[in-house]
Amino acid sequence: MHELSLMAEMMDLIRNSAAQNQINRITRIKLVIGKLSMALPHSLRFAFDSMAGEGIFTSAELLIEEREISFKCPHCLEQFIVEQPFLNPCPFCGSLDTEIATGRELFIEYYEGDSVYGHQADPSGD
Ligand SMILES: [Zn+2]
Repeated sequence: MHELSLMAEMMDLIRNSAAQNQINRITRIKLVIGKLSMALPHSLRFAFDSMAGEGIFTSAELLIEEREISFKCPHCLEQFIVEQPFLNPCPFCGSLDTEIATGRELFIEYYEGDSVYGHQADPSGD
């Protein structure tokens, strides 16, 4: 259950950030998951659904963007999508020095939320 602990960590990050910003209801979370990140989108979604039942995540929508694996050629600077992360010669110039450009991503791109109590001024005037 690799994805369960990953999702729990990401939800903790959001929970802490939301608390600092007086947000007590999350409405949307956007994750970017590279195909090399070893995290499966449907497993992350399952983990999220199993943990979001109570608290600030109850009505949150989870968006997951999957990033293809792509390589970049240092010689002609072209970038191209590949199926697997090794031995991918540049299709433009034939160079073998190509390296991974995308596919390792695993991050929260953004989250949205609001305060169900509204933003009220502090009566102490502080
Ligand atoms: Zn090239």
